[in-house]
Amino acid sequence: VKLLRRREKRAAVLGCGPAGLFAAHALAQDNWDVTIFSKKRRSEMFGAQYLHAPIPGLTVGRSREVHYRLNGTVDAYREKVYGRRSGISVSLEALTSRHPAWDIREAYAAAWSVYAERIINIPQISPEWVIQELHPLRYDRVVTSIPATELCSEVHVFDSQQVWAIGDAPERGVFAPYSPTRETVECDATREVGWYRASNIFGYTTMEWPSGRKPPFDGVAPVTKPISTDCDCFSNFIRVGRYGTWTKGVLSHTAGDLALKRLSLR
Ligand SMILES: Cc1cc2nc3c(=O)[nH]c(=O)nc-3n(C[C@H](O)[C@H](O)[C@H](O)COP(=O)(O)OP(=O)(O)OC[C@H]3O[C@@H](n4cnc5c(N)ncnc54)[C@H](O)[C@@H]3O)c2cc1C
Repeated sequence: VKLLRRREKRAAVLGCGPAGLFAAHALAQDNWDVTIFSKKRRSEMFGAQYLHAPIPGLTVGRSREVHYRLNGTVDAYREKVYGRRSGISVSLEALTSRHPAWDIREAYAAAWSVYAERIINIPQISPEWVIQELHPLRYDRVVTSIPATELCSEVHVFDSQQVWAIGDAPERGVFAPYSPTRETVECDATREVGWYRASNIFGYTTMEWPSGRKPPFDGVAPVTKPISTDCDCFSNFIRVGRYGTWTKGVLSHTAGDLALKRLSLR
């Protein structure tokens, strides 16, 4: 009995982007034996700008204060981003707030340096792979951050919004065509300005445009923003991150806490 009690609990984490590695980190800190399965490639942080809370052991630098500014009304902003769809909520508070920010690139780089050796390269995780390869390995729990669409084996609805975005990627020579004042997120609801959001945080600029015509700048790419899903495939898996949960507005720093909270509810 003592031996059984002492056995380290084994967790599998799917995905090695920020959400996957932040969840792996939280589990490792909680004495889980963690193995990560993913296409083994560092995420480019495309779009992600900053952490809204520190992650113990991964964020080392100081926080900075980020200012949100809104040009126009909340309703016009919601319509510019999401069209006339009802049921999507956007708050004035979120578009005009000030709050502390931590460097997501630094935290992800720190997580990669610690956890990269635990990543097993699986280029295409699918429901079949889970059933044939993962299940027989008998992990106590599975945490997934890969897009929920990748693990869906039935007909489920995945509501999402397509937008265009560009983020500074100096390593690839890509730079956004406009940059707001430092540590500012500009939200623009007007017709005169094509983009709806432009930010400059920790020296990196990100811009987003509504769906429709592709903005005429090199490096602009289509981005899927998850909104909601009714998918309950592999319902015993713990879903983290915006794509893993397929939910609007989920932030990367929540992945670790969410995984631990769900584990404690078992
Ligand atoms: C424009 C924009 C701005 C955002 N800003 C912020 C922000 O400021 N702060 C914030 O916290 N979040 C932000 N987000 C949300 C989100 O947190 C970030 O996009 C974040 O980088 C996503 O990390 P992730 O780990 O969830 O996904 P990803 O970085 O996409 O990682 C997914 C991982 O799973 C792997 N994978 C996927 N499918 C498979 C498969 N079938 N088989 C094997 N491997 C697979 C990928 O290779 C990758 O390693 C933003 C999102 C967008 C679109």
